[in-house]
Amino acid sequence: MEFRDLKAQYNRHKEAIDGAIKEVVAKGQFIGGEPVARLEEALADYVGAKHCISCANGTDALLLALMAWGVKEGDAVFVPDFTFFSTAEVVPWVGAEPVFVDIDGDTFNLSPQALERAVAAVKAEGRLRPRAVIAVDLFGQCAEYEKIREITEKHGLLLLEDAAQGFGGRIGEKRACSFGDISTTSFFPAKPLGCYGDGGAVFTDNDQWAELIRSYKVHGKGFDKYDNIRIGMNSRLDTVQAAVLLQKLRFFEEELEGCNRAADFYTERLRDRVKTPTILPGYNSSWAQYTVRFADEKQREEAALRLKEAGIPSMMYYRKPLHVMKAFAKIRTDKGECRTAEETCRTCLSLPMHAYLEERDMEAISKLI
Ligand SMILES: *Cc1c(COP(=O)(O)O)cnc(C)c1O
Repeated sequence: MEFRDLKAQYNRHKEAIDGAIKEVVAKGQFIGGEPVARLEEALADYVGAKHCISCANGTDALLLALMAWGVKEGDAVFVPDFTFFSTAEVVPWVGAEPVFVDIDGDTFNLSPQALERAVAAVKAEGRLRPRAVIAVDLFGQCAEYEKIREITEKHGLLLLEDAAQGFGGRIGEKRACSFGDISTTSFFPAKPLGCYGDGGAVFTDNDQWAELIRSYKVHGKGFDKYDNIRIGMNSRLDTVQAAVLLQKLRFFEEELEGCNRAADFYTERLRDRVKTPTILPGYNSSWAQYTVRFADEKQREEAALRLKEAGIPSMMYYRKPLHVMKAFAKIRTDKGECRTAEETCRTCLSLPMHAYLEERDMEAISKLI
């Protein structure tokens, strides 16, 4: 059994995907070109953002946002303690300092109450300038943007939406990647919308930031890439990847429906045994992961072992909160400040989740758990 069955997806759409790849190869244009431009347009349209700027991966996308804002040394950037490393990794890259914020135990996402406390603590200490919040749409569910927006507005903070896992999710009719002042996503193969390698994108309604990001991603270009007006980087989405994504976008909604059916199926069978995912009223998840929580670590380890013995993959997303990572050893986080993140790391388990899961497989997984 596959954790995320990309082969099943490919086999179902083989002709369209092969055709798109062949066309790029036959044309011999591998960087930029029409597929990249068409994809950016299609993605902006899908998300409901004015600008979409494709780039090399989801980590670069986050970094480009911070660069466009000029986040720098002395700035505090608030990040959830329970997320993939990238979310916080980009902060020291621009010289700023991540401040780890606890999560909500039901949604796995940034806790608005904990965010309010963290901002107040940084202000009281006075060492760092509160500058931005990176909210993550973890496992596919959008963060609580209405409440988070209230806090960022009150304190004059910029809001960056990390929708690497959230692409395709929505709150009401508003889609992920439209909630931040800048929003980003990743097209890493296993993400909700994945390509056949690395890829990412940045979304914003702000013309000035969009222009800066278009410059930063091409060596700080001015007139063109041989006219360099600032220090930038090289971060582009390959033409082949754009062509693959254009095809995948055509059946993306159908896949989201499949994932939602699979999630309902799991929840129906598991909700009396473990803590199943909570999706807030009016929210729609893209189900990047289906993550349950056990009563304690011992139960979690036992379940993972039983699944493994039956040849069923499961993942512990995530085993460690960010504030205990060695890479962040220099950053002070008061003990007990991120208790829910710590607790979740000990008890969470992500189960196979994709649009091509068979009911009998989910039945077998549920029985084992
Ligand atoms: C995957 C991921 C990223 C980074 O994306 P890459 O394309 O792998 O660089 C950033 N944030 C979150 C929450 C992710 O899951």
